[in-house]
Amino acid sequence: MKKIGFIGLGIMGMPMAKNLLKANYEIIAYDIVTEALKKIEAEGATKAASISEVAKAADTIITMLPNSPQVEEVVLGEGGVAENAKPGTLVIDMSSIAPLASQKVASELKLKGIRMIDAPVSGGEPKAIDGTLSIMCGGESEDFTEAKPILDCLGASAVLVGKNGAGNTTKLANQVIVAANIAAVAEAFALAKKAGVDPQLVFDAIKGGLAGSTVMNAKAPMMLEGNTKPGFKIDLHIKDLNNVMETGQAVESPLPLTEQTLAMMKKLHHQGEGQSDHSALALYYEELAGIKIRPGGN
Ligand code: NAD
Repeated sequence: MKKIGFIGLGIMGMPMAKNLLKANYEIIAYDIVTEALKKIEAEGATKAASISEVAKAADTIITMLPNSPQVEEVVLGEGGVAENAKPGTLVIDMSSIAPLASQKVASELKLKGIRMIDAPVSGGEPKAIDGTLSIMCGGESEDFTEAKPILDCLGASAVLVGKNGAGNTTKLANQVIVAANIAAVAEAFALAKKAGVDPQLVFDAIKGGLAGSTVMNAKAPMMLEGNTKPGFKIDLHIKDLNNVMETGQAVESPLPLTEQTLAMMKKLHHQGEGQSDHSALALYYEELAGIKIRPGGN
């Protein structure tokens, strides 16, 4: 069985690495946080002292890092994966990063004979724990086929959507839809409240119709409870929408809805809500409209 290097043991990476251990993969892991390394070692992984140690030992390397700068540093930086991995190694970057950064990393690795697929995920921590993530992949089909048994331990579906960068473009599309959908739900609930109709009853009445969605089912109850505990943090969504804007500019695709929603999220960030769930967009509308969406709130 392949020896897997795993770099980035945060909210998502930790349960994903645990699922690979459960599937009997041998794991050599690295994170800058010592606590995380101790935790995964206790689960049966080998703890590495550096990225180079992981890169030299593994046949396949998974990265689950915050954003493009961290992936570029870990993979292309001094002492990183590109300098130390054997030719033929397969890198699976599962972080949500800018598609253009993904393409850059893949093409630099190719110069060293190292293969890469971008494989960002959707589903959040609960699905990372259950191993039921949705995984969207970009790269060569033979590399995707090689990665598939590993991805199947982490997700309920893994779909190859195109060449390098296409996985992250798909993730950005996902994040555009989720952000606009949450904002629309908050805007509609504020309108109903101002017009004297209970938003809870609006939700009950419309959730089975055309406006209903997975996003509405997950986020409307949080708005109605005034619950902002994350899920998916405003700050992470800002990171993704910044990547959307950068990509939109590069390919000349207009993004008026995303631009507006990003501005709302940035305002919430400056009000100290960056670590709140993205459904806290409801707070933006509550302030703007001078009402509370939750029942009993005025
Ligand atoms: P996180 O911040 O919890 O974890 C990132 C980990 O990377 C941390 O443990 C950090 O110490 C480590 N790290 C950072 N720089 C490093 C470096 N130079 N070398 C080694 N390790 C380093 O983030 P997360 O929530 O696990 O998210 C990871 C990625 O998955 C992000 O791109 C995020 O957008 C995406 N994602 C997150 C969720 C979610 O619900 N949390 C859902 C889908 C996708």
